[in-house]
Amino acid sequence: MSLSNERTRVGNQAPDLRLFDVTGKGVFALDLDDDGRVIAVGAMGAALLAREPDDLVDCPPADAFPVSVAQAVHDCLGQPTFPTRVIQTLLPTRLVADRIIEWTLHGLSAGAGRVALLEANDVTIRKRNDNRLRNMARAVEQSPVSVVITDVKGVIEYVNPRFTQISGYGYDEAIGMTPSIVKSGFTSPQQYRELWETIVAGREWRGELLNRRKNGDLFWEHISISPIRDETGAIVRFVAVKEDVTMRKEYEKRLLYQAHYDDLTKLPNRLLSIDRLTQALARADRNREHVGVAFIDLDNFKKVNDTLGHTYGDDLLRVAARRLVGCIRASDTVGRLGGDEFVIVLPDLHDPAHALGVADKILEAFQEPFLILGHSITTTASVGLTIFPNDGREANILLRNADAAMYRAKDAGRNCCRTFHAGLNALAMHRLRLESLLSGALDRDEIFVVYQPQVDTRSGKLIGAEALARWRSPELGMVSPLDFIPLAEDSGLIEQIGRYVLETACRQLALWQHQLPPGTRIGVNVSSRQMSVPGFAGVVEQVLGATGIAPHSLEIELTESLFALRSASVVDTLNALRAMGVRLAVDDFGTGYSSLSYLREFPVDTVKIDRSFMIPVGDEAADSLVRAIVTMGHSLGLQVVGEGIETAQQLTFLQDSGCDAAQGYFISKPLPAEAFLRFATRT
Ligand code: C2E
Ligand code: MG
Ligand code: MG
Repeated sequence: MSLSNERTRVGNQAPDLRLFDVTGKGVFALDLDDDGRVIAVGAMGAALLAREPDDLVDCPPADAFPVSVAQAVHDCLGQPTFPTRVIQTLLPTRLVADRIIEWTLHGLSAGAGRVALLEANDVTIRKRNDNRLRNMARAVEQSPVSVVITDVKGVIEYVNPRFTQISGYGYDEAIGMTPSIVKSGFTSPQQYRELWETIVAGREWRGELLNRRKNGDLFWEHISISPIRDETGAIVRFVAVKEDVTMRKEYEKRLLYQAHYDDLTKLPNRLLSIDRLTQALARADRNREHVGVAFIDLDNFKKVNDTLGHTYGDDLLRVAARRLVGCIRASDTVGRLGGDEFVIVLPDLHDPAHALGVADKILEAFQEPFLILGHSITTTASVGLTIFPNDGREANILLRNADAAMYRAKDAGRNCCRTFHAGLNALAMHRLRLESLLSGALDRDEIFVVYQPQVDTRSGKLIGAEALARWRSPELGMVSPLDFIPLAEDSGLIEQIGRYVLETACRQLALWQHQLPPGTRIGVNVSSRQMSVPGFAGVVEQVLGATGIAPHSLEIELTESLFALRSASVVDTLNALRAMGVRLAVDDFGTGYSSLSYLREFPVDTVKIDRSFMIPVGDEAADSLVRAIVTMGHSLGLQVVGEGIETAQQLTFLQDSGCDAAQGYFISKPLPAEAFLRFATRT
């Protein structure tokens, strides 16, 4: 078959020509039997030479290709076989810089004839990149900073000599490992995770890490890691550039230390103390917590300094500082403000009373003499206390007020603690302290119940008892219900405490069933807040069921203010209680709304006249008031009880005014259960 036929066939059939372009290179078929003339050419090959394909077909090599390529083709003519040859040429273009073309000449046989396939590959970009890379590599090799290149999994592919020098790991030791070979163990997994997430997301990460050399030494590195992408945008490598900043770090640390710590005691100085306080305030503000600030001044430091000298003074300060540190939690700060003045910052206080506890500890810590250079020196401390936010919202204000409070402690004779607002603040603190202690009081079995007898005014016989809550706190001693019941109401604790009292009283009455006169009843105080809780009647029903006492032997004492509320849910509860057969009493009658109208509206059984009406016996106005209440009560069918009977005279008055029952110290104080039983069964 002649090649010219073949050529015609190729030239006529377009699909075959397209095949010439699939490799992405220019492809030329040459007839070696006819001077190496071009038989066929793909569109790419023609484009490389800036010619039309038709224009090139039949061209001898010298007309088509650069000289060196034409020469190579020429060399092959008349040879039966020849090895593949590669030639590089520069192809001038009019528009841009010369392009670099790599030509590859393969021998082929096409039927009987000899054909060569010439490939032309534009390697301009690759070659330029190669060059650039070579230059870059040189720069990286000689760089004064460490360079590490890893694959996408973090496996090291390259490290520069500086890395080797700083880390102590040789090139061959590092390749194939991960950068974790320099891990010191001081970087948190969290920080590594952030680093990794940043670079995997294609962003640059910068930071400082404490790393470890091969010899075990620690060193600080400032590191930036960037992802390297391929032409499609995919991340193929990471490059880390690392600078050893150990020296700088150490210098900074020393500077920072000098700026923030007191040289003598090694405690935070004024600057850092205020900084810590400021941070604590911001946090407490967010978390609605308290912060305590204790300002401490040694009581006779000046005397020590003046009589024994500065060496003793300095040593005393050092030891005092250590004692102060012993008084606090790890999260607290003890700082030295200057001279013999110290500050303690107590952050995150749930219970401001804790600050009082710390102040006590501080005073305690100074009771023992200091042994300074063989001398026993006694120096106490004066402490001023402020609480955020009560005594100020800013660090300098709190500190200033604590300072003022400290002076009040000095005035009060030293060796004591004073709060900023003597009365007000102590009261607020007391309340806050009560609240926190009260919340655990039930669980700690500190709440118990006492019983105060109620007797028939005429016969003196026992008719019932009022159950009264008591709180014996190991920290505070006995706390009056007048103090803790309102607190329990505010905090919602009243629900649990009230239920406890109700249960205890009813259970007690059940236990006494056989010892007490039949019909003896038990009065239980229930606050408005308890009554307003939906389901209160259900609680009472449960307790009655559990203890088995008769509903009419339970009398619930309610305050006048409750009736004034007239809330629908309260009215429902009152009716439900009444329907169960439980008795209802109005407590402290006469102190609230002093209106009898509600007695008509509500299903009440008993009125307890407040003891304030008993005190001025002989006072005519009070007398007539009591008589009026008794008369009106009776006309409504209510029983009338006089409270707070302290004298025989008052009891006589009650009898005269027709009051049914009496309760008060003159008859008996509230008694613990056993004592009450003795009272009830006395002969
Ligand atoms: P209250 O219900 O009016 O109780 C009578 C209070 O007067 C009791 O005080 C009692 O000890 C006191 N008292 C009795 N006789 C005399 C007397 O002759 N002279 C004087 N000066 N006082 C006398 P207590 O026990 O301190 O209770 C005070 C208040 O606390 C009670 O007043 C009651 O409102 C409330 N409370 C006590 N226990 C409970 C309870 O369990 N639940 C609720 N919600 N409130 C309670
Ligand atoms: Mg009462
Ligand atoms: Mg009362």
